[in-house]
Amino acid sequence: MAVHGIDLGTTNSAIARTGPDGRPQVLAGLSGEPTTPSVVLFASPGEHVVGEGARREARLDPEHVCTLVKRRMGDAEWRFVAHGKAWSAPAVSALVLRSLVADAAFASGDEPTAAVITVPAYFGDEERRATMLAGTYAGLDVLDVLSEPIAAALAYGFGRLDGSPELAKGATHETVLVYDLGGGTFDATVIELADRRISVLAVEGDHQLGGADWDERVAVALSRRFCADNPDAEDPLDDSAGAQALVLAAERAKQQLSDAERTDVVVAHDGARSTITLSRAELEEMTAPLLRRTVDLTRACLDEAARRGVGCVDRVLLVGGSSRMPAVAEALRRELDLDPRLHDPDLAVARGAALYGEKKELERMVVADLRTRGRLRDGVPLEDAASADVDDACRRVADAFRVPLAQVRRAVEVQVDTVVSRGFGVLAVNSAAGRLEPSWLVHRNDRLPIRTSRSYGTVRADQTEIEVTVVEQQGQAESSRPEDAKVLIVGQISGIPAGHDEGSEVRVTFEMGFDGVLHVTAFHVDAGIPLTLIATTGATLSQAEVARERDQLGKTRRRE
Ligand code: AMP
Repeated sequence: MAVHGIDLGTTNSAIARTGPDGRPQVLAGLSGEPTTPSVVLFASPGEHVVGEGARREARLDPEHVCTLVKRRMGDAEWRFVAHGKAWSAPAVSALVLRSLVADAAFASGDEPTAAVITVPAYFGDEERRATMLAGTYAGLDVLDVLSEPIAAALAYGFGRLDGSPELAKGATHETVLVYDLGGGTFDATVIELADRRISVLAVEGDHQLGGADWDERVAVALSRRFCADNPDAEDPLDDSAGAQALVLAAERAKQQLSDAERTDVVVAHDGARSTITLSRAELEEMTAPLLRRTVDLTRACLDEAARRGVGCVDRVLLVGGSSRMPAVAEALRRELDLDPRLHDPDLAVARGAALYGEKKELERMVVADLRTRGRLRDGVPLEDAASADVDDACRRVADAFRVPLAQVRRAVEVQVDTVVSRGFGVLAVNSAAGRLEPSWLVHRNDRLPIRTSRSYGTVRADQTEIEVTVVEQQGQAESSRPEDAKVLIVGQISGIPAGHDEGSEVRVTFEMGFDGVLHVTAFHVDAGIPLTLIATTGATLSQAEVARERDQLGKTRRRE
C-alpha cells in the first residue's frame, strides 16, 4: 500500500517510503546510490539512459543529453529535441520518475503505484500541474504535490513532534527557517511546529537560482584563464562539448572548495591544456551576488513571518546540496545573526515526502472506515468527527493493515498548514483608470486551503458575453499592471439573454487545495449561467500533445 515520496530535483532526484517502523527509508537502485542525477541521455530513437550514466556521457554527446529540465516545468513551448523527436518538460521528467520507480521496485520488490512528488515552494500553478502530468506519464497516481521546504520540515518535525513531549502537548513551539539551495532553485520558508501542527508562515524564493548558477560563474572564470594562458586555442565555451566539460569541471571544483581552501582544475581543449588553481576566496568573490540574493530573499521571508507575529526563529535548517558551501552558513550568521545547521541536505525532502504520503494514505483509510460505518458524512472533514470514533477507526485500520497504532494516530493528528506562494486574480475593468487591471483574490502567503469569492459587475446593459481572464502574480509584489501578470486561463460566459442591467453581478470563486492547484468558477448570478472554460493558455499541453507524448514514452526503453 505504501505511497512513495519522490524528490524530483533539478540536479538530483530520490525516492523514499516509510518502513514497517514508520521511519522513512530512501530506496536505492542497482547503483546503490541514494540519489539519481536528473539527467536523461537520448541514446537512440528508442533508447534512453537516466542518471549517472547520462551525466557521464554529457561530455561526449551533449546534443542528446537533457539537464536542468525542472527549470522548464510549466513552459508549454519548450521542447528538447533528440533524434527527431520532441520531448516536453513533463515527458523528460517522466523518464526520470520511471527510473526512480524501477529503482524502488528493485530495492523493495514492490512497484510504486502512488506517490507524493515535491516541488519548490515557489512553483506556481502551471509548474505544479506539469509535475502532476510527469507523474501521470510515469504511470503514477499522484496523490499530491508537496512543497520541498514543507517536506524537509516534516522530516525534521515528525521526529521532533514524536520525540518531544512538550511539543506534542503543545506546551511550547518551535519556529524553523528552512534555507533550501539546490541545483536550480532557492526557497526560504518559515515554518512553525506546534501542537502536532506544522504551519508554513511565509515563503520566498527564486526558481532560477541554484548551484548551477555558481557552476556557470566558475566556468566563465576558468575559460577566461584558459584563454589567457592559451591565446591561440579556441574558447571552450564556444564549443558545446567543451562548454559541458568545463561546467562539469567547474561544479567539481566548487564542491571540492566546500572542504578545501584551494583546488587545481585541469582544462584541456583544442589541443591545449592548463592547470588552473582556484581558491575558496576566489569562488566566493565571483559568486557573491548570487549568495547575496539568497540572503535578501531570506530576509524578506523573515520580515513576512515577523508581520505574522514571529519575532525570532529557533532553528535554521540548511537543505539542498548547495547549502554545503561554507559561505552559506557564514552569510546567514553574519548578515542575519542566525545559527544554521545542515540537515540531511540531500535526502530530507524525499524522506519528508514519504512521511506525507504515508499520512495521506492512512488518513484516507481512517476516513473511509468512518464513512462506511456512517460515523462521518460525505463532504464533512475528519476534524469534525467525534474523537472516540476517530480513535476506534485508527485502531481498526492499524489492525487491518498491521501498522502500529501510534503511526496511524500520528498520521491523523499531525496537521500540515501551508500558504500560497503567489497571488491569483482576474482581469477586471478599473473604471477610474479606464482600463483592465488585475484584481487579486488570492494573495501571496494566504493560508491554504483557500476558497474565496468576489463579485464583479457587467460593464453594460444586455451584455451577452463575459470574458474571465485568470492571472497569476509574477514578481514579488502584486501589481495593478496587466503586463506584470501571467495569464493562466481565459474562460467565457456566453449566450447571456438580454434584459440584465449594467453592473449585473458576476461571482468569481477561486479554490485552491494543499497541492496549490487552482480551480476557478464564475457565475452570472441573475441569469444563472455558469462559466464555461473555453480556452486554456499555452501553459498546459493540449490533449493531442499528451496523447502523442504518451505514445512516444511507450516506445522508449531505459538502457541500464
Ligand atoms: P540538490 O538539488 O539538492 O541535489 O543539490 C544539487 C546541487 O548541490 C548541485 O548544484 C551541486 O553542485 C551542489 N552540491 C552538492 N554537494 C556540494 C558541496 N559539497 N559543495 C557545494 N555544492 C554542492
